[in-house]
Amino acid sequence: MKLTIIGGGIAGLSAAYYATKLSTFNLQPVEITLLESDSRWGGKISTDRAVFDEVPPLSRGDGQFIIEGGPDTFLATKPWGVALCKELGLGERLHGTNPNKKNTYVLNRNRLLPLPDGLAMMIPTNVEAILKSRLVSWFGKARMGFDFLLPAKAVNGDESLGTFVSRRLGREAYENLIEPLMSGIYAGDGDALSLASTFPYLRDLEIKYGSLARGALQIRAQSNGKAVQGSRSAFLTPTTGLAEIVEALVKHLQANEVKLRLNTAVSQILKIDSRYIVKLEDDSSFESDSVILATPAYASGTLLASFDPELASVLKSIPYASTATVSLAYRLNDIPRELDGYGYVIPRREGRKALACTWTSTKFPHRAPDEYALIRVFVGRAGQELPSPAGRGDGGEGKNELLELAMEELKLTLGIKTKPILSRVFMWDKAMPQYNLGHPEILKRIDVALENYPGLALAGNGYRGIGIPDCIHSGEVAIEKVTRDLSRISAITT
Ligand SMILES: Cc1cc2nc3c(=O)[nH]c(=O)nc-3n(C[C@H](O)[C@H](O)[C@H](O)COP(=O)(O)OP(=O)(O)OC[C@H]3O[C@@H](n4cnc5c(N)ncnc54)[C@H](O)[C@@H]3O)c2cc1C
Repeated sequence: MKLTIIGGGIAGLSAAYYATKLSTFNLQPVEITLLESDSRWGGKISTDRAVFDEVPPLSRGDGQFIIEGGPDTFLATKPWGVALCKELGLGERLHGTNPNKKNTYVLNRNRLLPLPDGLAMMIPTNVEAILKSRLVSWFGKARMGFDFLLPAKAVNGDESLGTFVSRRLGREAYENLIEPLMSGIYAGDGDALSLASTFPYLRDLEIKYGSLARGALQIRAQSNGKAVQGSRSAFLTPTTGLAEIVEALVKHLQANEVKLRLNTAVSQILKIDSRYIVKLEDDSSFESDSVILATPAYASGTLLASFDPELASVLKSIPYASTATVSLAYRLNDIPRELDGYGYVIPRREGRKALACTWTSTKFPHRAPDEYALIRVFVGRAGQELPSPAGRGDGGEGKNELLELAMEELKLTLGIKTKPILSRVFMWDKAMPQYNLGHPEILKRIDVALENYPGLALAGNGYRGIGIPDCIHSGEVAIEKVTRDLSRISAITT
């Protein structure tokens, strides 16, 4: 039995990992091949462990800056990330965010104002903290109180995140408080994002408790004991970066004789009778009993176009936003203000090109040597163009433009006027899927189409969750589908 997995990001690597645990498909040995077009594994997970010459080698972290180009942590409350790390022997290496300086700020008319205490499931629940906050006007605060009074609305079908939060808490609270937090996750436009596909629990709170704040408080009270025991922090990451997960997965796959091929782009999948033909860009091809596409949805659409144009066009209809991160290191005494928190988010209405700024060396103190700070500026959101791909190599125009933009952001908001001692720019084209209104229907159409193709499955961030734990889970679910399909076929043929 041959299983081919296309795409060596966290979803494809996880699918390969769960396939090795099967060891046989329906009592037949399984030969697993993982193909990746890039020259490295990990996809959006990319950790640069950079050493700056000036830093004394024995300072904290052995003088290293640990720079994440893509994700920097994963959510502990979704079980699949922690579970995989434990199986890979990384359980003890997971640590949370700094519990001592937890402030998060919101940029508001060029000032940094603290996010009010008491946010539960992203919903403000501490009335006193809201009353004191300067992020929302008195009128806006009064409007937020309507959440306790307004009955649940009978909505037929889905609605946008922006519409939903605005009708419960008011537009001002949405724009100044909730939108910047949520768009930090999807780099999306809240007025286009589907509530059902992004934050379905918010609608559940409305229906069940008649109020977001009341519901969030009750759920927090019920789960308090469990959450504190179960996890040290809501967000976790291995000590020297998320690449540790990728490295451990690759080691496991090598030890289990998975055929690992980098620099191998797939150009097309064909279906002949019950078998799939995997065509590569170098014009070679091979047969496989089952195929998992762990590529972005638009890429999967291109690969499947020749045997199911309709499925291909549904896949390609999922939009993706491009983003970039710029990490900059400074000597602490070049920074005029204390970095006393995890950083700040920037509401869309502020009109800035940056989306958020993480104070990495406060959030994870060991990620910069003593006396240095590491800051990461997140650029790009749905509807905003990044510099064109031309000139994106090191020192290329596109990267310089982003570096300038990040330095300008830090000058305006933090007053940093000196050049960084070290910088890294990572550009991610079409990286963040947008689960816009209509996404649940897209998923249904994909599921129905896949039922016609035994042994074929999709995995990755394009469908049912963008975070790392969701992508890991999608790899596991894809393996379950192909195993189920192949068992059914072998039951019919034997
Ligand atoms: C800047 C940024 C910050 C983020 N922050 C967080 C965070 O803090 N926490 C979190 O949980 N999530 C975060 N995310 C989201 C998360 O990182 C991604 O959703 C996840 O890593 C996607 O994994 P994936 O395997 O689905 O896709 P990818 O990582 O995109 O992997 C797909 C792979 O397929 C390969 N491929 C494409 N076409 C072909 C082909 N034809 N042939 C062969 N290979 C092909 C690609 O080269 C790529 O390696 C962030 C994302 C970005 C971009």
